[in-house]
Amino acid sequence: MGDDIPDDHPRAASLRARDRLVAGVEAGLTSQQGLIAQGRGEAFDYLLGERTIDSAALAAEAAAATMLLADHPVISVNGNVAALAPEATVELARAVNAPIEVNLFHRSEERVELITEYLREHGAPTVLGVGADETIPGLSHDRSKVHSAGIFNADVVLIPLEDGDRAETLGAMGKTEIVIDLNPLSRSSVAASIPICDNLLRAFPRMIEATDRMAEAAPDELGAIIEAFDADHARDAAIQAIRSGDIAGISD
Ligand code: ATP
Repeated sequence: MGDDIPDDHPRAASLRARDRLVAGVEAGLTSQQGLIAQGRGEAFDYLLGERTIDSAALAAEAAAATMLLADHPVISVNGNVAALAPEATVELARAVNAPIEVNLFHRSEERVELITEYLREHGAPTVLGVGADETIPGLSHDRSKVHSAGIFNADVVLIPLEDGDRAETLGAMGKTEIVIDLNPLSRSSVAASIPICDNLLRAFPRMIEATDRMAEAAPDELGAIIEAFDADHARDAAIQAIRSGDIAGISD
């Protein structure tokens, strides 16, 4: 497992992420389909040079400002996010004072409970999902289930690796959506008010750092950061970065 991966291996971060996901599947946190989603993400990450491009750094900062200004921010978590970044998810939830809600495309109550327990073990104060008591209008399937104390009444939802359909429907409910997705062309990215085209393993620490830095900022100052952010430009910049073929950061 991860211990066998030498730090100087050019793809160490990516290999460790794979190990975390495989362990997540073995522990019942992550669906097998989650491995395929990770593979799709890796392909985009490779083409982006496995680095945070400038527009994604700006997006992470605007996202942090948006969560700090929100009345009811919520962080939506699936089996991939829980397996890849439980520590950072909890740290961010604390930094912006947001509950975490477990939302699964391949939903089973058992997996919701396992992820809830796993995040609690990592120190999460509030994890919603068990006993979801509302549904997202216009969405078929179990993925429409949400919690009234969480996503259903949230004004801002952070959705890393969301299913595109759900992201579109949440947008239609008038919520401000922050999406972390390496694919700038995905329906989730396109639906987002703030698309962060970056690996969540890099985006979460950036958001936490920005939140700490802006914790005392006045609402006007936060508002100006959000105002200056341009979602179309961020998506276009990611598409350009992918098309440029500049993967200088990768040597293997
Ligand atoms: P659409 O939003 O167009 O409907 P999808 O929901 O069908 O796409 P999936 O196959 O579910 O997409 O893949 C999940 C998405 O998550 C992919 O777009 C992939 O790029 C992205 N992704 C996977 N792993 C990561 C990661 N670690 N960080 C950020 N994004 C990731």
